[in-house]
Amino acid sequence: MRRYYNAYSHALKSRFPWKVYKLPLDAGFNCPNRDGRVAFGGCTFCSNASFSPNSGGPLKSVREQVAEGIAVYRKRRFGGEKFIAYFQAFSNTDAPVDRLAALYDEALSHPDVVGLAIATRPDCLPEPVLDLLSRLQKRTALFLEVGLQSSHDETLRRVNRGHTFAEFADAVGRIKRRELYLSTHLILGLPGEDRSMMLETAARIARMPIDAVKLTHLYIPRQAPLAQAFRRGELSLLTLPDYIQLVCDILERLPERLIIERLMGELDGEDILAPRWGKHKGEILEIIEAEFARRGTCQGILFGESAQGAIGCDDAQVQRCIPPITAPIKS
Ligand code: SF4
Repeated sequence: MRRYYNAYSHALKSRFPWKVYKLPLDAGFNCPNRDGRVAFGGCTFCSNASFSPNSGGPLKSVREQVAEGIAVYRKRRFGGEKFIAYFQAFSNTDAPVDRLAALYDEALSHPDVVGLAIATRPDCLPEPVLDLLSRLQKRTALFLEVGLQSSHDETLRRVNRGHTFAEFADAVGRIKRRELYLSTHLILGLPGEDRSMMLETAARIARMPIDAVKLTHLYIPRQAPLAQAFRRGELSLLTLPDYIQLVCDILERLPERLIIERLMGELDGEDILAPRWGKHKGEILEIIEAEFARRGTCQGILFGESAQGAIGCDDAQVQRCIPPITAPIKS
């Protein structure tokens, strides 16, 4: 089968001998961009509560969430598979090191948890936390996610990110000195951004020692600050055809080695105000592949010299581009 981009699912398959699922957790973290330490109110697109498996109820322990989450997955997916505990809600390195170590250990104590994914901000990664992550990487598969969203400081200011591109770049350098796996989040369609700005962000990311990227379209949760601007008609969102073109344009400019962890944001659900594209994830992925087929291109085709001759990647080509995840598998 022809593959047009370096999908995370393929990277996981080449890394683990089992089918591995990500198990979202809410460990009760906050975010310094919401509680006043960096800013109040958070990023204008943020409604992180919607990521929480505890939404609407009292916070359960990490141990309880892992056990309950695994039971639900197994009921729905019929498998005795393994899991990556995904510390997803808010900023998951924003606590004293001892507290972080205890929470991560709690997740790893389940025998079917074979890795940790930890999402955070660039300004929540002081050296002692990175030292902890470095030690953890020797015990388990570790996937660190650091949000960026845009490389343009004017956009970061506009959406109240509370950090600059330079702070992100500094965090990347300190993370990669420890050889941690690093993915970053980018949002397409942020207020004030045009195609050239988004392509510029992709070009900057392409030159950094980043392992993976999560792309999402700008979507508006009902509780996010941007919802008010959207309701007042002050915000225009990407259409699906525009998004498809942008995704292909960006993947063409990212190196083939870079793993694509995600290709769209939330599409439906009570919490999502807009956009409503009327398509499921699988349908959108098919449209993206059809667009690559129409163009006769694939990920990396416009990335520097190394991309020469990459048109129409076949399985073997894509496999060669998937870097090994170096952490040992937890047995
Ligand atoms: S998106 Fe992340 S960094 Fe921004 S306010 Fe929400 S939790 Fe904090």
